[in-house]
This record gives sequence, C-alpha cells and structure tokens, in this order.
Amino acid sequence: MFDLKGKTALVTGGNGGIGLGIARGLARAGAHIIVAARNEEKSAAAVEDLRALGAEAFAVRVDVNDEPSVEDMIGAAIRQCGRIDILVNNAGMNIRKPAQDLLLAEWRQVLDTNLTSAFLCARGVYPHMKRTGSGKIINIGSMLSIFGGSHLPAYGASKGGLVQLTKSLAVAWAIDHIQVNAVLPGWIDTDLTRLARRKDPTLHERILARTPAGKWGDIDDLAGVAVFLASAASDFITGAAIPVDGGYSALG
Ligand code: NDP
Repeated sequence: MFDLKGKTALVTGGNGGIGLGIARGLARAGAHIIVAARNEEKSAAAVEDLRALGAEAFAVRVDVNDEPSVEDMIGAAIRQCGRIDILVNNAGMNIRKPAQDLLLAEWRQVLDTNLTSAFLCARGVYPHMKRTGSGKIINIGSMLSIFGGSHLPAYGASKGGLVQLTKSLAVAWAIDHIQVNAVLPGWIDTDLTRLARRKDPTLHERILARTPAGKWGDIDDLAGVAVFLASAASDFITGAAIPVDGGYSALG
C-alpha cells in the first residue's frame, strides 16, 4: 500500500531541510527522486545522500520564481525518467518584517517563491500526470496557513493561499485521479528556522513551551506523511491540509 517502486518524485527544494527529509522518506519507499533547487553543490550532496539509501536520484537546477526555469525543470525530469508521479511543492523562503516595513518587491518575492511556484509546478506536471492516469501533489504549507504572525504578512498570505490552491486543484483534478493535499509542518529545525532563531533569540524557548510534544520537529518527521500522501494508501484523500506539528495547532 505504501510501496513507491517504479514511481518518480520531483521535490522542489529537495536539497536540504524539510525537502530532503521528504525526499529521503520517498526514496526509502522505493521512489526515484529528482532534487530541484538552485544551489547545485547542495543538490549534488543531497543526490549522494539519496543514492546511499539505494535510490535512483538526480538533480535539476531550477529557480521556481521563473516560469521558463520551471518548464525546463519539468522537461528535464520527463527526459530523464519519462514520467512524474509525485510532485512535492516544498521550495520556500521568508522575509521577517512587519507589514508597515515590507517593500512590494519583498512581498512579491515571498508570494512568488511560496505560492505562485506551486501553481506553476502543478500546472506543468498536470499533462504528464493526466497522460499516465494518476498523480500525487503535496504542497508544503505551514502553521502560518492557519495562524497569523506579526512579522510574517507575506509568508502567512502565501501559506494560507497555498491551502486554498490545494483545495481548488484537488477539486479540479480529482476526476483525473490526481490527488492534491497539503502538509502543514509545525516548527522544524532547518536553516530557515535557524535564521529566524538568530533574529529572534526568544523564539526557540517560546516554541518549546507552546508545542505539546515538547520538542522542535526533525526533518525526518515529515517523511511518513509524505509517503502516505504519495502512495496508494491515500487514493481517496484529496484537498486535505494535514498538520505535522507535535500538537501545536491543537492547543487552544
Ligand atoms: P530551508 O531554507 O532549509 O529550505 C528551503 C529550500 O527551498 C531549499 O532547498 C532551497 O534551495 C529551496 N528554494 C528556496 N527558494 C528557491 C527558489 N527560488 N527556487 C528553487 N528552490 C528554492 O527551509 P525549510 O526546509 O525549513 O523549508 C522548506 C519548506 O517548508 C518551505 O516551504 C517552508 O516555508 C516550509 N516550512 C518550514 C517550517 C520549519 O519550521 N522549518 C515550518 C513550516 C513550513 P536552494 O537555496 O538551493 O534553491
């Protein structure tokens, strides 16, 4: 039910952090992995990591903000593997500023990277998934898909929008046997949150105190839900947004 042998997974931002944790999970379940990101050195290291798990893996350079670059990425994946069964829209970034200080260019950069990219990648893989008769799209949201944050206006808007995009694609493409779901990670120890903790020294302890599980998440904590949403086990689940947060969103 959870076997991904013979499947190809394209993971944006798969060269580190949550994307690499997800790629490792999919690789262990048997999928062939395409790591898509900008930093080629990091991507080469991720490919080595995945091959060491026994998976077939290769890297494609992409800037998900750039439409031609996304099209090239999908073309390269199809040339290499012939199919894309699983798309993980994970690439993301953040600019921490209150709305009154945020420049329009910064707003656009966050929205483009976190939200518009998911639309571009999903639209790009759709004809290939339709041709093979099935597909799985997993969008990586956030606790900011649910909650507000005083220094996160663009990030919150992008991650809230990603859940609504997930639902719209799920409704449109269910008939094509393409399931589209979102995962909402809680606070996970990655480069992104290390930067946030450097900027806000109280953040680490506040998250520990607010998370019922009493710990920050690890990148491998996202692997199980990704395998589930990428596999036949979730074939009747579409349009869902699943928190993976140690209970963070359940606490009133
Ligand atoms: P990282 O900063 O560790 O990873 C971000 C990834 O996105 C990198 O692999 C980076 O690769 C890639 N990326 C960024 N911009 C682009 C771009 N323009 N084109 C292609 N790839 C890009 O962060 P996380 O692992 O923490 O975050 C991954 C996702 O999870 C993000 O969407 C984030 O919002 C989300 N998330 C993270 C949480 C956390 O606590 N860490 C909590 C909730 C959600 P490269 O630089 O090589 O391009």
